[in-house]
Amino acid sequence: MAQLPTEASHLSWTEPEFLAGRALAEKYSCQGPRYTSYPTAPQFREDFPREQYNSWLCNSEERRTAPLSLYVHLPFCHDICYYCGCNKVVTREQHAVRNYLRRLKVEVEHQALLVGGNRPVTQLHWGGGTPNYLDNGELTELMHVLASHFRLLDSGYREYSIEIDPRVTNIDTIPLLKGLGFNRISLGIQDFNPLVQKAINRIQPYDQVAPLVDCIRYNNFRSLSFDLIYGLPHQDRHTIGETLQKVIALKPDRIACYNYAHMPQRFSSQRAIDRLALPTPEEKLLLQCIISQHLQGAGYIHIGMDHYVLPEDELAIAQREGRLQRNFQGYSLNIAEDMLGLGVSAISQLGDFYLQNERDLAAYYSLVDQGKPTAYRGCKISREDKLRQFIIMSLICELRLDVVECNRCFGIDFYGRFQREIEQMRQMETDGLLQLGAEEIQISERGRPFLRNICMLFDAYLEPPKPSAPTKTFSATI
Ligand code: SF4
Repeated sequence: MAQLPTEASHLSWTEPEFLAGRALAEKYSCQGPRYTSYPTAPQFREDFPREQYNSWLCNSEERRTAPLSLYVHLPFCHDICYYCGCNKVVTREQHAVRNYLRRLKVEVEHQALLVGGNRPVTQLHWGGGTPNYLDNGELTELMHVLASHFRLLDSGYREYSIEIDPRVTNIDTIPLLKGLGFNRISLGIQDFNPLVQKAINRIQPYDQVAPLVDCIRYNNFRSLSFDLIYGLPHQDRHTIGETLQKVIALKPDRIACYNYAHMPQRFSSQRAIDRLALPTPEEKLLLQCIISQHLQGAGYIHIGMDHYVLPEDELAIAQREGRLQRNFQGYSLNIAEDMLGLGVSAISQLGDFYLQNERDLAAYYSLVDQGKPTAYRGCKISREDKLRQFIIMSLICELRLDVVECNRCFGIDFYGRFQREIEQMRQMETDGLLQLGAEEIQISERGRPFLRNICMLFDAYLEPPKPSAPTKTFSATI
């Protein structure tokens, strides 16, 4: 069972400690992956071993009954949020959704035959873009398509979730989503401050969100999640404090607090954000501390890197029991080995393979129309990757590495094998970020904001970090 820091130690990242830790932010601030997979997406190649994947699919009979997770990407949005780094298509074109659903349906039919339509779908997630860009008829049609080709569940433990945008949600859509089988809703909140909302081009006052939350509660969804972002323009300790008060008043079951990645060289809409209004890495660390203090003070448990959940939430239990996983949707329960991604840019993890669908909408349509596979790049996870994946995912999910278990699973001597990495960890130990033990490595509460830096030590694909050299590929760790 994973050992968790006590609640008292959770609260130890106080403001005075922040001041002491400011030097650490300067020392460790660099660019690095978020580790929603390992190997990370930049390692996916167009010349991945597609033949090996096809042959594995044909020969994996035992998987034909195993639980499956489905991710459906719905890319359309009405307006651009300046901070956005998602794969989306901003359009008001009337036929956009119809054109997309037509292709998605073909892909669903095709993949159900390949991956196995009889597998119980224990997890389903619709993400975007804005899934509720679809009107009620289109939402119903898409769920019907999925139910016609996959074994969707209506009883037993299942997590069926959808991301919705409060600005475009009709109140009558909420009972419809419940009726369609969703039991979890995730709301993109980001920040409640009007100045911040204006700077990111996402105006959604508290008074617009609160009735929606009431309606979700009234319809008995199993859980309600909020997404917040820190590091946005004009955010400071006061604005974030006010936002958190409003969030806590609405009492979502889960809160994901993402670190804003300002990469205007990669995401052109971010050029509309005033760079000078952004908090510095040190100020971001302070915001992170304030979020942690406020939410834990309100009874939330800090999960992994950036999630907070109520104590009775399944994620809190999963973290205690070592069943937490991290994937492209963030932290979730590990209840299906394979995840199939459907739609433009969607990523699948099937067996030892990662595959990503074509990211450009027109190219995706063209592949579907020609009856070709929609995955344009991917990678095969090697044995060495699996070892490093085990280490990175243990650290980022459980905040510890069971060295004995790692040695047993991979037949290695961890401390002998990773001497260079351990050397660097010793420096981190001196900085109070972690404790190295013969049987386990434990990340301390002070080390939590630096989890990505710690994981980067075990990423075989990274060049040694150069703090002052910006890259186009990864976001800032702090
Ligand atoms: S943040 Fe969401 S709603 Fe805004 S542009 Fe990006 S995908 Fe669309």
